[in-house]
Amino acid sequence: ALPISTATLSGNEAHHLLHVMRAKPGLQLMLFDGQGGQYEAELTHCGRSTVDLALGPKQDIEREHPFQITLAVALPKGDRQRWLIEKAVELGVSRLIPLQTARSTAGSEQASSKLERYIIEASKQCGRNRLMQLAAPLKLIDLLSQDESPIRILAHPGGSPLAEIEWNSTENRSLAIGPEGGFTDDEVTQAIEAGWKTVGLGSRILRLETA
Ligand code: SAH
Repeated sequence: ALPISTATLSGNEAHHLLHVMRAKPGLQLMLFDGQGGQYEAELTHCGRSTVDLALGPKQDIEREHPFQITLAVALPKGDRQRWLIEKAVELGVSRLIPLQTARSTAGSEQASSKLERYIIEASKQCGRNRLMQLAAPLKLIDLLSQDESPIRILAHPGGSPLAEIEWNSTENRSLAIGPEGGFTDDEVTQAIEAGWKTVGLGSRILRLETA
């Protein structure tokens, strides 16, 4: 079929195609615009640091949930952080907020460019064509005062069973996960006062990225 339009990739994605994949003209690809659109594409020209593509028609393929999921999480470090981002992308989290709490460690200060790269890598792997949004780090107290999702859940050992939450199918939801040291009693009290429900995830303590 005749191409409808063209595109030129530069930066990381061009580098990956040229120097990691050793791509050559004729290669067929799927191109995501990160905003819900995707295109069948064919590589037409390899530049030194750019790649030209011929694109088929834009395909609107929805792979999102019918509601927004905000995940506020005290980020762990290193590989565990990467794993967390990957799973959040795969599970359809709409927006990830690095959460700063009383017992947070250095994770939330990670360079956001690195986190953005993890998001893109995970999206490519799982075919998600809409990028998970990465918010600026936020203090728990500010999350509690700003968040207006109809469903607001704070994971805390000993909280109500997950099955007791009424998950009205299309309501937006916000989920808060604490750091390795957990939320403090004060933080849990503040969250409850702000209308959050505390939820327990079983009788074992999970790594925060598992939770
Ligand atoms: N040391 C803490 C646990 C921290 S686990 C304590 O003993 O309380 C890190 C975060 O993961 C917690 O803040 C919570 O948000 C979540 N989490 C882990 N296991 C959980 C469980 N069984 N129920 C609910 N939340 C859990």
